[in-house]
Amino acid sequence: MNFVSTRGSEVDSFLKAFNKGLAEDGGLFLPESFPNLSDRFDSLAELTYPELVAEFMHLFAPEISKDEWSALAKKSYSEFSAQDTVNLHQLRSTPSRDLYVLELFHGPTRAFKDFALQLVGSLYERESKVNNSTYTIVGATSGDTGSAAIYGVIQNPSVKIFIMYPDGKIAHEQELQITTTGSSNVFPIAIEGTFDDAQRIVKELFSDTAFSKQIHIAAVNSINIARILAQSVYYLYIYLKLRKGDQENLANQVDSVEENVLSGQMNKVRFIIPTGNFGNILSGWILNRMGIECDFVFATNENNVLDVLWKTGIYAKKGAVSTHAPSMDIQQASNFERMLYFMYGENPEKVKEILGTFNAESAVSIDLSLIPKNITSHSVSDLEIEQSIKDCFDKYGYVIDPHTACAYASVSDGESGVGSSSEIEYMDVILATASPAKFPEIVEKCTGQKPIDPAIEQLKERKKVYVKKEAKTEAIKGYIEECLGFKDMGCF
Ligand SMILES: *Cc1c(COP(=O)(O)O)cnc(C)c1O
Repeated sequence: MNFVSTRGSEVDSFLKAFNKGLAEDGGLFLPESFPNLSDRFDSLAELTYPELVAEFMHLFAPEISKDEWSALAKKSYSEFSAQDTVNLHQLRSTPSRDLYVLELFHGPTRAFKDFALQLVGSLYERESKVNNSTYTIVGATSGDTGSAAIYGVIQNPSVKIFIMYPDGKIAHEQELQITTTGSSNVFPIAIEGTFDDAQRIVKELFSDTAFSKQIHIAAVNSINIARILAQSVYYLYIYLKLRKGDQENLANQVDSVEENVLSGQMNKVRFIIPTGNFGNILSGWILNRMGIECDFVFATNENNVLDVLWKTGIYAKKGAVSTHAPSMDIQQASNFERMLYFMYGENPEKVKEILGTFNAESAVSIDLSLIPKNITSHSVSDLEIEQSIKDCFDKYGYVIDPHTACAYASVSDGESGVGSSSEIEYMDVILATASPAKFPEIVEKCTGQKPIDPAIEQLKERKKVYVKKEAKTEAIKGYIEECLGFKDMGCF
């Protein structure tokens, strides 16, 4: 299958798009087409999680055989502790408003990023074998991508990984996961700046063609299309499960007077997604092009550039502030470029024009009618995060992390936020993107209980290894060159 860049160029396979990360024109790759799955729902609903991953990825990457995809998927999800890889927890059951939490934090680093990055790690391992080459992964993290990417390639001798994170702005537990691996192919860099600075440096290093060729640079940020597609699978998996359950309910309740039952229609699935870089929600939303009908709500924290855009049509640059949900302390969501591409009818010239104005003038206005009708938005203050963690614990005895709390806050705020004027019967699914044990202080403050995960506890005994650097592209480039031996100065 061809993969097109949001800025106009294209490549003729998934693996080429995967290996490039960022397109040469600076744009982000997307599949040229999205196969419709609606006549296969029943059979797909029978698959295990790794089997569904293999089916799904093979649609876009037939250059890797189905058998090989099966092996890659099986290996990638083998360390997940939930029986179904994901875990769907029902908080509330009412005839018209079921409320679920989709736990996506049972992977090695206890955040949803493991879903994509375990698979990406396996893909890099495959590629380095097939092409007999080595890779240098360069990535930026607001907390969870870095550790998930590192755990995806740990002990893989053909990959070196450099991860930048904003110094002092990520949770202590997140920093431990990034800095304590003791693995000689891992190079953590604490940047004196914000995540947006780190992300900018990554983009600049990728655009430096000579350098990126020399080090065989590789992407783990959600600019990489492999991450977006890998994440689509859990939306599909849960959609198919809920659809199946709903059909069984319908069959059992033919006498019910519930309108939705009489009309024989499935309640609509609505996903509520804590959002930073807009990657997770994009992964779900593209399924609309594959025959899946569902709605979406994205929840930002106080870094609300996208929420403001959704409500006013003004897309304006703002600096990021630190919040209780650090993995979402992002104001320039790189994946929003993919959304712009769809909003403007897959026209790369329009994308370039909008981004050109945005970069030159720090703001651009976007026609509100282009914003997809099935995505609504919400932004959540730190105070509301605290109230939500407490509320969810008091009402349901269920502990959520501060990112998941942003989504939770967006559901309970029924009046102004989600679904106020709608007649639709929803099954609401909150995406739980991290384990509460990654953010014990704030969770303990709100619930009186400290969430503990032995896997995280044992990191506290280990030695932290990292370097501190200015948020300057040249400084990072020099450091990478030193570590790779292009300059003989030694790293640590
Ligand atoms: C990365 C992250 C998010 C934001 O996801 P995006 O794909 O960047 O929108 C939300 N919650 C947690 C815990 C994360 O690690």
